[in-house]
Amino acid sequence: MDEVSTQGLDAEDVWDKLHEECGVFGIWGHPEAAQLTYYGLYALQHRGQESAGIASVDSITMHSHRGMGLVTEVFGQNQLPGLRGHAAVGHVRYSTAGGSHIANAQPLVFSFGKGNIALAHNGNLINARQIRDLLDRQGSIFQSTSDTEVVAHLIARGGYPSTVENVRASMTMIKGGYAFLILTDDQLIAMRDPLGLRPMALGMLGDAYVVASETCAFDTIGATFIRDVEPGEMLIIDADGLRTERFAQANRKALCTFEYIYFARPDSDIDGYNVHMVRKQLGRVLAREAPANADVVIGVPDSSISAAIGYAEELALPYEIGLIKNKYSGRTFIQPSQELRSLGVRLKLSAVRKIVAGKRVVMVDDSLVRGTTSMRLVQLLKDAGATEVHVRITSPPVRHSCFYGIDTSAREELIAARKSVDEICAFIGADSLAFLDESSMLSVFSEDGATKPDARSAHGFCNACFSGVYPTEIYTESPLSLTPKGV
Ligand code: SF4
Repeated sequence: MDEVSTQGLDAEDVWDKLHEECGVFGIWGHPEAAQLTYYGLYALQHRGQESAGIASVDSITMHSHRGMGLVTEVFGQNQLPGLRGHAAVGHVRYSTAGGSHIANAQPLVFSFGKGNIALAHNGNLINARQIRDLLDRQGSIFQSTSDTEVVAHLIARGGYPSTVENVRASMTMIKGGYAFLILTDDQLIAMRDPLGLRPMALGMLGDAYVVASETCAFDTIGATFIRDVEPGEMLIIDADGLRTERFAQANRKALCTFEYIYFARPDSDIDGYNVHMVRKQLGRVLAREAPANADVVIGVPDSSISAAIGYAEELALPYEIGLIKNKYSGRTFIQPSQELRSLGVRLKLSAVRKIVAGKRVVMVDDSLVRGTTSMRLVQLLKDAGATEVHVRITSPPVRHSCFYGIDTSAREELIAARKSVDEICAFIGADSLAFLDESSMLSVFSEDGATKPDARSAHGFCNACFSGVYPTEIYTESPLSLTPKGV
């Protein structure tokens, strides 16, 4: 039987989920830019809990502060007043590329011949290593191991007179999934990758422009959602207002379906769909395809609650709170000794005995990666007296690694890459197990009703961790030249 060691890990690591890499927030044209960025990052905290940072600019100086920990741990009343200026970018991080270290906390801030620049990035640059090796050989000195720094070097080395031109040229060289914010002394530049793998939205707060990974950040600061940033689009915001251009042609979209399944906050809208409504619809479709003879439906908090409600509604079964999450388990806890290692999941979740005892329970979860958490939750429910536990997963089996900024386990750790559904069911000790298949999952995006997108949306999704069909090349070759076209 597989076992996940908690030795040297934190509470998130024993939690068997894919991890989002980061969240970004930017604002231009507001006297309290840094304070609003702080609140924006607070709303995006679910996208990364390892480090946080803000860079701001006034008319002459760039200021920044970053640190390890939650937004509220990194920023206090002592830090924010020093972040003066009318514009700011902020970042919350969970590391996948570069490792966990303060040097990799963002925004990364650099001074070079053309001025100051701060970079905040959500996603993963799949050819960063090749470009970095080449820059290394040409004498560049890197301050961090973050793939984001590669872009700073490309911009600084650019031969064009303006930063926008150098940013545009740099973007033609990098590949991957990203939402990028770049703050200079006189501009805020926002970019979404050519396939729209990572989300990004534009809003307004009075006359100020705001850009964020998710719309929940707009709601928190009272900003109005304007539209999603389009794949391959670059927004340039400065004293003249907002202008937009394409730095890459977007022939199709490949938004990460895991944004809907697990990463994003339920109150966010992404590319025309509300996340809660998508999850609820996923639960409904799963209920039609894999019903269970049961007494009660419960969801694994927090991300599976919406889907569990949909599943229960579709089968006219009672929905109940059968698992309680300890919201204060935090990122780290004292490492359990070998004897207490099995505490891992119990530190985070408890079963509600009165709800599940003597009942046939359907436990709805959004994804199953290594299977270890599901195994412990099934045991938890049975220990609390559940007579049967039927596990329903509102996504397909995860069989492949992600190269676009999501921390999937190594492929050999993905249980569905090694075992059949029946074998996984036996491994987690459930009475039955069912997943949504890919076409059923995608059907919720075309059904009429609550999940129907608005008219502007053109849709396409990345499902590579389920199907192994990647929307880009998996970049292995070395770039032939680092000279941007036209220089
Ligand atoms: S491979 Fe999976 S996690 Fe990665 S971007 Fe695609 S759908 Fe999202």
